[in-house]
Amino acid sequence: MNLSLATPPPLSGAKNAVDESQAVFVPGEHVSVLLPLPVETAYDYAVPDTETLVPGDVVEVPLGRRFEVGVVWGPGQGGVAPARIKTVVQRIGVPPIPAVSRRFIDWVAAYTLQPVGTVLRMTLNPARRWKPQKPATVICAAGPSLATAGLKPTPARERVMAAVMRAREFATLADLAKAAQTGAGVVRGMIDAGVLLQKPAGPKVLMSPKVTMSAPALEPDQRAAVAEIAAKLGKGFSATVLEGVTGSGKTEVYFEQIAKVIDAGGQALVMLPEIALTAQWMNRFMARFGFAPTEWHSDLAGKQRRANWLGVIDGSASVVVGARSSLFLPFKNLQLIVVDEEHDSAFKQEDGVIYHARDMAVVRAREGAIPIVLSSATPSLETLVNIEAGRYARVHLPVRYGQASMPQVEIVDMRVHKPEKGHWGRAWLSPPLVQAIDETLRAGEQTLLFLNRRGYAPLTLCSTCGHRLHCPQCTAWLVEHRLTKRLQCHHCGYNAPRPTACKHCAAENSFVACGPGIERVAEEAQARWPDFKVRMVASDTLDRPSAVAELIDDILSRRIDVLVGTQVLAKGHHFPHLTLVGVVDADLGLSSWDLRAAERTYQLLHQVSGRAGRADRKGRVLLQTHDTAHPVIQALGSAAPEAFYASETAARRSLAMPPFGRLTSLIISGTDEIRVTAVGRALAETAPRGEGIEVLGPAPAFMALLRGRHRHRMLLRTRRDVKPQGLVQEWLAKARIPSSVRVQVDIDPQSFF
Ligand code: ADP
Ligand code: ZN
Repeated sequence: MNLSLATPPPLSGAKNAVDESQAVFVPGEHVSVLLPLPVETAYDYAVPDTETLVPGDVVEVPLGRRFEVGVVWGPGQGGVAPARIKTVVQRIGVPPIPAVSRRFIDWVAAYTLQPVGTVLRMTLNPARRWKPQKPATVICAAGPSLATAGLKPTPARERVMAAVMRAREFATLADLAKAAQTGAGVVRGMIDAGVLLQKPAGPKVLMSPKVTMSAPALEPDQRAAVAEIAAKLGKGFSATVLEGVTGSGKTEVYFEQIAKVIDAGGQALVMLPEIALTAQWMNRFMARFGFAPTEWHSDLAGKQRRANWLGVIDGSASVVVGARSSLFLPFKNLQLIVVDEEHDSAFKQEDGVIYHARDMAVVRAREGAIPIVLSSATPSLETLVNIEAGRYARVHLPVRYGQASMPQVEIVDMRVHKPEKGHWGRAWLSPPLVQAIDETLRAGEQTLLFLNRRGYAPLTLCSTCGHRLHCPQCTAWLVEHRLTKRLQCHHCGYNAPRPTACKHCAAENSFVACGPGIERVAEEAQARWPDFKVRMVASDTLDRPSAVAELIDDILSRRIDVLVGTQVLAKGHHFPHLTLVGVVDADLGLSSWDLRAAERTYQLLHQVSGRAGRADRKGRVLLQTHDTAHPVIQALGSAAPEAFYASETAARRSLAMPPFGRLTSLIISGTDEIRVTAVGRALAETAPRGEGIEVLGPAPAFMALLRGRHRHRMLLRTRRDVKPQGLVQEWLAKARIPSSVRVQVDIDPQSFF
């Protein structure tokens, strides 16, 4: 997205969150309350006799026969008969949602064409079904002794008294009982007799974190980068791209900015593409700052989630690290946003509210008048164009830190170097790669074999009749997983055991595996090097955070010699003994007709390559390819990717593709294909027309069937100066869409299948 795109489309006044921090609504007045439901506007309610309310207050309101928690969005909008206006039940005891968050919610709703209530839900969710917390109590000595209270001084009671005297107070009855090695009944009896007192706890003093002094001495380039970005703190909105090869110290540089924000008493948000896999990042953060950042991602348990949310809104969480959704947190005093690996497509949320978290982060920074840092070794083309146009500043770290040099990249032509079959069956590792692994193992170093494909084989077919096993609910082959002994659909989760007979030709035991997944490459590696430890790593083998920590520990302490993994290993990790990266199939992903296929493949393979040789050992990267002349392969092989980026940019410009034009996808889906087709045809008839507007489709999507739903696509391409939101809104308002068919709008689509 371009910043110029980021001018909010006009909003209807009614929906706009009221901003005047002075506004106070008194009993009897009407306020509009936005609910975290798929609603387009806020509803009017009366302020109760017992409260005054301000914009942003979180309130409980009646809704039909139930109750819902919403946010005061502004004054009442009128238009409802006064008799029908219901009264707010109560104000929930959390700080009000700040004005900047409310403006941001309005903006995102208008830009993504989502109901504003649905967007609010991302901000408010932990406050819904709010239960007032029971006031915390402590147990302490009440004053009277056992004897004065008429209690027999049994050994258990004596121990309880001693424990209370020592610790002064206990948070719970159970804690005290445990400390005194007795039962809760004994303690309860002493409370009843008035020897012990359970009283409200005094206010908890929040410790503001102290930035510890373990900051490294910076290199001149790093120092310059820190100074340049630091100059923008507290100076309003700015966007800076922190570009530098893997290992150049980008993380160290933005840590410095975070330290400054903490010192100034503000909050910083760091967005990472896959927060669940960032154990190493967390450790580094703690080593640098001496405290743990506040995490925000979908795996947080309810209680922790609520505590973290409260920390964000009351300002006690000074650094938040999170996935996409962290952007919607109601920060009290956000002063800096960092988007690490800004090019990563994981920042695009593809369901629910469809939004690009990197783009929306820029908008959030602008709304909050704060700086944003976009960090990457391989910035997205959109970001590079924004630098060229002067909308973003660029800070560059040209070399790896310390002794580390960039790995040497070798291209292996698979048409020449064919893998040799072994006793285990087909092989996927070419002789040059096998030799490189041999050398690496002999030197006591580690190898990463990269293949972005989970499972054993991506396709299973009958060798008698050629029948291919596909998912009954999706346009997708079933992927064989030998570990779980199942065939799996990677799109919907469907799975089944491998059939013994082909249901088309009835041949028995005729199914064969085609192509490699990481399980198959791991099998080959273990067969070739039986004395070495081979470990397979994919998102499905790292389901717990502790699994990630264990894996990293195993790698660092060299209990693994060969890692075979998908892109989960590509991100952010730093393994000093890993000196060889073998890309098993560099062409994977290039054959896709996706607009960004080449760019994505380049970014991913560059990132994977960056895992090699990060300490004092030089790294080597071998890329196995059938297409040595491909611009992406050439760019990876040379140290100068500029030519590749330049040709990609030129191609997009000449085709008026993003960021030089804008795309909006409409995905029409339903279980009844005839209806889906009919809606598509109807939409085509009423499609917007005019200068700089072009509509493609409808046509069956690449994934024509997904989770049992038929899917057709339309693509609206508009010139940069034409805003698609208004066009699409008008277009859909005209259409009659039966409830059995869903039309999803994806502004700035990243995914095209
Ligand atoms: P990037 O984020 O660009 O990949 P990092 O910040 O992770 O780079 O730095 C790579 C490695 O070099 C890390 O282990 C980091 O601690 C170390 N490093 C970078 N700069 C310095 C420095 N000035 N002093 C000490 N270590 C550094
Ligand atoms: Zn499926």
